[in-house]
Amino acid sequence: DYQLSDRVNSIQPSPTLAVTQKANELKQQGHDVIGLGVGEPDFDTPQFIKDAAIKAINEGHTKYTAVDGIAELKQAVIAKFKRDNQLDYQADEIIVSAGGKHSIFNLLSAWLNPGDDVIIPAPYWVSYPDMTKLVGANPIIVSAGIDQRFKITAEQLRKAITPKTRLMFINSPSNPSGTAYTAEELSALAEVLRDYPNVLIATDDMYEHILWPGKAFANLAMVAPDLKDRIVILSGVSKAYAMTGWRIGYAAGPKTIIAAMKKIQSQSTSNPASISQYAAAAALDGDQSCIDTMITEFKKRHDYLVDALNAIDGIECVAGDGTFYAFAHIDVLMQKAGVSTDVELCEKLLTEAKVALVPGSAFGADGYCRLSFATSMDVLQQAIKRISEFAASQH
Ligand code: PLP
Repeated sequence: DYQLSDRVNSIQPSPTLAVTQKANELKQQGHDVIGLGVGEPDFDTPQFIKDAAIKAINEGHTKYTAVDGIAELKQAVIAKFKRDNQLDYQADEIIVSAGGKHSIFNLLSAWLNPGDDVIIPAPYWVSYPDMTKLVGANPIIVSAGIDQRFKITAEQLRKAITPKTRLMFINSPSNPSGTAYTAEELSALAEVLRDYPNVLIATDDMYEHILWPGKAFANLAMVAPDLKDRIVILSGVSKAYAMTGWRIGYAAGPKTIIAAMKKIQSQSTSNPASISQYAAAAALDGDQSCIDTMITEFKKRHDYLVDALNAIDGIECVAGDGTFYAFAHIDVLMQKAGVSTDVELCEKLLTEAKVALVPGSAFGADGYCRLSFATSMDVLQQAIKRISEFAASQH
């Protein structure tokens, strides 16, 4: 028997990957399973980005780079923050890492001590609590249900803060809920955070660009410039440019924290892949209309899916503001199906209806499930047909 570390024993493997695995097993056994579990765009990386990578290879950019990223990419990140967010950063306030997840992990490693508390609004992105535990800190979950469009209020935040609170996560637009905080809602949170100068704010803006036309993106640094020296913005190219496999994320924040993140990166992974960095610089500096093409398609699917889910007896779903996820309330369907947890319902849906969804409890919200619409309209229609038939056959 191997005695593994307490650290690794304190965490769970990613539940979204577990669903995909179970669906794949059924597929291998010959079952026709529809997977709505995936967390990545179904589009290919735009050609001009691939071309930049090929050029980087041909020009010999295949060696170590600066630990925190090549100058060209950092400049592209700085220009992005200026262009999209009217925020000014210097090169020593930016770090590039091997994916958004890596940026987050570096931040937690650089900022938290064992025993520190981290506020995580639920439903949350699956990795926040486990990454928090990996560095020995405690996730403090603050829940917001469908009646709040999955967004926590200022009062909830105030109640959750204790002298041990050292970090708060905010993710908007949100994976899994698809909803985004308005500037006003963020201002109300900022009002609370002003009273607690020891709390650092990690704003995960990974889905910033996957927002429906007419919706304005805001983050805490934009609405509360006075708090900028307590905010770390976490983002990356994975979702907006369909670049999940390239592994480039970035963070912007106070230079002392960024330098600490760089120190950790220097003793763990070193620089992210040189070729991917050139591709990411091209993505950020290039023609942004590639994003619009994806959004038009995602919005069409979103509108279809939300309406179709609401038409099913026992399912309730609010319209999102962006992302490629719908988060449906299924507690009535759970009762009809005679199960007491969303995990059991999702298992039934997988084995009986052959549709793979991720149970809400994976995101800290029992009674819900997440459906990804990063798949064709055709597949979505088939999935809805199966879920409707399943729901109609329960009593
Ligand atoms: N943050 C959120 C909210 C995400 O959904 C994801 C990916 O699923 C990430 C961060 C990490 O992205 P990356 O693939 O760049 O590590």
